[in-house]
Amino acid sequence: MHTRIAPGIIRVATSRRDNAFLVAGDDGYTLVDVGWAGAPRIILDTVRELGGKPGDIRRIVLTHAHPDHVQGAAELRRRTGAQVLIHGDDLPWLEAGRVSPEGRSGLAGRLLDRLPKLHWTPLSADATVTDGEFVDGADSLRVLHTPGHSPGHIVLLHEPSRTALMGDAVFNRGELALGPAALAADPALRAHSLQRLPHELQAVGFAHGPALTGADVEDFTRFLTGLPGSD
Ligand SMILES: [Zn+2]
Ligand SMILES: [Zn+2]
Repeated sequence: MHTRIAPGIIRVATSRRDNAFLVAGDDGYTLVDVGWAGAPRIILDTVRELGGKPGDIRRIVLTHAHPDHVQGAAELRRRTGAQVLIHGDDLPWLEAGRVSPEGRSGLAGRLLDRLPKLHWTPLSADATVTDGEFVDGADSLRVLHTPGHSPGHIVLLHEPSRTALMGDAVFNRGELALGPAALAADPALRAHSLQRLPHELQAVGFAHGPALTGADVEDFTRFLTGLPGSD
């Protein structure tokens, strides 16, 4: 199932709870996050429904290296030939095929990461991305480094449509929230990282939960201004 949340941005529901995003560009699509092992088939079906082919996915930008975002990445790269990009601070986990114990602030998170079903096929990145730059080859997507949920977490800002793709920096499961602290690397850093987000957004996409568009974006702005440390 897919929906257009802004001009050139398609939300792909890769499971009942999880989303990836296809961002249309001059040379094809940039995919933001993949999902679990079953996600590549759903993403490729969506590209076909949109009239494209697997090779139209030119690059895969991962918001962070958690299994629900990267488990399908190795397979999707194999099937598309896409370049894989991630922030350097999450690259060691991507290459290890699992989250390191220091990557979760709580014991519950560390225990979960021992489960084989939360591991993935290790893969390397073709390039790393850094704060403030535009994604190479997709010059409409700006990288915002938002550490906290993971050390190398990034939010992607699609400047032409004023859309923010939030990854797990904010969850929208029933209500807007920063998510479970035990699963975050540095919970206290999360709200601080969000202070740099622009406020005049037209749409907001979440890895988990429905997107906000139109007047509903106001809920997101209110959420940001209610966070500790905001003025
Ligand atoms: Zn995550
Ligand atoms: Zn997630």
